[in-house]
Amino acid sequence: MSERLSLPGVYVHLPFCPYICPYCDFAKWPLRRSSSERYTRALYAEIETHAPLDAGTIFLGGGTPNTYDASVVAELLARLRERFDRNATVDEVSIEVNPELVAPSDFVRYKDAGVTRLSIGVQSFDPAEIRTLGRRHTPEQVASVVAAARAAGIESVSIDLIFAVPGQTIGSWERSLAAAIQLDVDHISTYGLTVEEGTPYAGWQAREPRAFFDDAGEAELYDAALAMLEAAGFEHYEISNFAKPGHRSRHNVNYWRNGEYLGLGVGAASYRGGERSVHTRDLTAYMNAIEGKSAIPSERERLEPLKAVGEAIMLALRTAQGVDLTYFKERYGIDVLERYAPVVREYSSEGLLAVEAGTMVLTRRGKFLANDVCGAFVTFE
Ligand code: SF4
Repeated sequence: MSERLSLPGVYVHLPFCPYICPYCDFAKWPLRRSSSERYTRALYAEIETHAPLDAGTIFLGGGTPNTYDASVVAELLARLRERFDRNATVDEVSIEVNPELVAPSDFVRYKDAGVTRLSIGVQSFDPAEIRTLGRRHTPEQVASVVAAARAAGIESVSIDLIFAVPGQTIGSWERSLAAAIQLDVDHISTYGLTVEEGTPYAGWQAREPRAFFDDAGEAELYDAALAMLEAAGFEHYEISNFAKPGHRSRHNVNYWRNGEYLGLGVGAASYRGGERSVHTRDLTAYMNAIEGKSAIPSERERLEPLKAVGEAIMLALRTAQGVDLTYFKERYGIDVLERYAPVVREYSSEGLLAVEAGTMVLTRRGKFLANDVCGAFVTFE
């Protein structure tokens, strides 16, 4: 990984969804026109509270950003660019979309508004799994969304898939991967299903734990994804992300390089000047604060230097390039192998971590157990 520090990314959270998926733990609300209009007014006001900034990327995430009409998306992007792209520094503008809610004409409007990258929440091409996940699209809709995005000239098209869905088999997972590959998209993200407390899935898992995959089953699915996507010409550049050459998500690469970012909207996180902050996840509290011109309720944490290094190691380990030991010495003044010797020793001897040619990387098996290995660096004192 080139270790130049990137310009900050700007993330905007658009939290409304046409319906709520039973596994979802994001800050999201069922779509109601009155709230969604009030919310965009709040976002516009929040943009104005920030000093102009030269950003590198803009990312509209959710929720489901395309619950908003394309004209609203265009207006939002125009306001963001006026504030954060005055010197034409933004070179990637992404939007997440739900494949059921877009019309072909939307992509032309997105393209005109400067969108360069589309991230489609597909999750599965298998009708039974789509139902289990509480989603409502069809595989045919996904194909027409990809075709329309291409026709409109959107540069990068990405698909999100989920593995370890109850009822999934190696065969059905491989068919979903093959369908995504067949669509000739530029980028595929594969996420293992995580069951979050308080979601309907948590209740289901408590009642029927056997419906859910164990670690070994999940590892088998992850391995299948690695094999198929690498064979299809995708570079595995981050634990959950695969890209054709030139199509990495620059916005996310900035996160993994421990770069700065500014988050706007309810529940959005920022990392600037060594401080991490997260806006309230209470939609009404967010909008009331903006309308009352008071500070948005947020949690703030200034990272102690050593904790900041642990987190930077965790982020770098998620990438194919891993931890560049020379760069860490220069940027943080720390010899990672010396400072974290017990952790490096333990995970190297278990075959999860490898140190080679000035870098420290997760092995293939280590990638599957990344949370354990990365967590050890963050908590080491
Ligand atoms: S569409 Fe995404 S954000 Fe909305 S409920 Fe489903 S998983 Fe959550």
